[in-house]
Amino acid sequence: MDLEIGTWFIIGLIALVALITIWNYLSRRPKICPSWNQRGLIERSKTPTGDTAINEYGGGGFSGGQTSVRVVYDVTYKCKFCGDQVITRQTRE
Ligand SMILES: [Zn+2]
Repeated sequence: MDLEIGTWFIIGLIALVALITIWNYLSRRPKICPSWNQRGLIERSKTPTGDTAINEYGGGGFSGGQTSVRVVYDVTYKCKFCGDQVITRQTRE
């Protein structure tokens, strides 16, 4: 019986890791190229703009809430098919 619980725990853990991996992949997958409306944009470079975005959350808790500083990047995507470039501004921790 212990073995079964352990097996299910491992399956759950693998499922969780897979979900996180898929989530990361989905949030970073190639974007749609504006020229032909298909996925083809690949992240080529990421340049910090020098700006930061401050996220405050929590607040009112006994630690007084938390603040996270996110760096703002200009991310350049290049289409692997037609060579178009798209620059988007993103914030990341
Ligand atoms: Zn394209």
